[in-house]
Amino acid sequence: MTRIAFIGLGNMGGGMAANLVKAGYEVAAFDLSEAALAKAEEAGCVRAPSASAAATGASAIVTMLPAGKHVEMVYSGEIFDVASPGTLFLDCSTIDVATARKVIAAATEKGFEMVDAPVSGGIAAAAAGTLTFMVGGTAEAFERAKPILSAMGKAVIHAGDAGNGQAAKICNNMLLGATMAATCETFAMAQKLGLDPQTFYDISSVSSGQSWSMTSYCPVPGVGPKTPADNDYQGGFAVALMLKDLKLATQAAQTVDASVPMGNTAEALYQILASAGEGGRDFSVIIEMLRGK
Ligand code: NAD
Repeated sequence: MTRIAFIGLGNMGGGMAANLVKAGYEVAAFDLSEAALAKAEEAGCVRAPSASAAATGASAIVTMLPAGKHVEMVYSGEIFDVASPGTLFLDCSTIDVATARKVIAAATEKGFEMVDAPVSGGIAAAAAGTLTFMVGGTAEAFERAKPILSAMGKAVIHAGDAGNGQAAKICNNMLLGATMAATCETFAMAQKLGLDPQTFYDISSVSSGQSWSMTSYCPVPGVGPKTPADNDYQGGFAVALMLKDLKLATQAAQTVDASVPMGNTAEALYQILASAGEGGRDFSVIIEMLRGK
C-alpha cells in the first residue's frame, strides 16, 4: 500500500487525510495538536510522533498548515532531512507566493519534486472530497500529484510553474472579496432606494451585474439559494480567512508593482470587520457593516 505522510490535520487537513484513507492510501499523520491527531486516528490514519517520523518511508508528503513560516519550518527543519529520494511533496496550505517558490526551489535543489497545491472550497468540501486544487510545479510533478489530489477533490488544475497555484488562489480570492463587498453595498443601496431585495436579485441575477457572490452565495437572507446568510452568517468562509488571503494578495501585488485598488479596498473593509470582532463569521456578513448595522 502506498504510504503518504500528512502534516497539519486541522479543519481542512483532517477531512483531506480521511479522504486519502478512504481512497486506500496508508496515511501517517502528524499535528502539534493532540485533539487533531486523535480525530485523524479515528478516521483511519496512523499516528506519528513527529513530522519527520511521519515523513520517513513515505512516497508522498502532504502539508496543510496555517502560513508560510510553518511550511518553511516543517520542510527545511524536518522533511528534507529524512525523506527518501524520489518522495513527492505537496503543499496544500494557502501561503505567500514567494515562500512557496523558495521552498520548492530548496526541494528541487535537494533532488525532490514538489508542487504548491492550494485549494478552493472550505471545511465541508475538504470533508466531502470536493475541493478544487490549483497546482504549481513542473509537468512531471503535476502528473505525479494528480492522483493523490484527485482523491481529495473534484478538480485538479495545473496553473503553471512553481508558485502559480498560490498566485491563482490569491488572485481568485481577491476577486471574490472585492465582488462580495460590491455585491453587498449594492444590495444595501438598492434597498435604500426602495427596491425589494428579491426583486433586485431577480433582475440583476439575469443582468450584467450577476456574479457568483450574488447567484451562488447571496449575502441577503432568504434570497437566492441557501447560504450562510440564512444561518446568521455562521459556517461558510470566515472573515479572518478572507482577510488572510486579501493580505497575501495585496502583498504579492506590491512585489510585482500591480495596481489593485479594488483588492486594497476589500482588504481595508475586511480588516475593519475583523477588528470589530466578526472574524469568525462568514465573509458575506460584510453586508451588515455596509448597511450601517
Ligand atoms: P487549522 O488552523 O484548522 O489547521 C492547521 C493545523 O496545522 C492545526 O491543527 C495546527 O496544529 C497544525 N500545525 C501548525 N504548525 C504545525 C507544525 N509545525 N507541525 C504540525 N502541525 C502543525 O487551519 P485550516 O482551516 O485547516 O487551514 C489550513 C490551510 O488551509 C491554511 O493555509 C488556510 O488558509 C487554508 N484554507 C483554509 C480554508 C478553510 O475554510 N478553513 C479554505 C481554503 C484554504
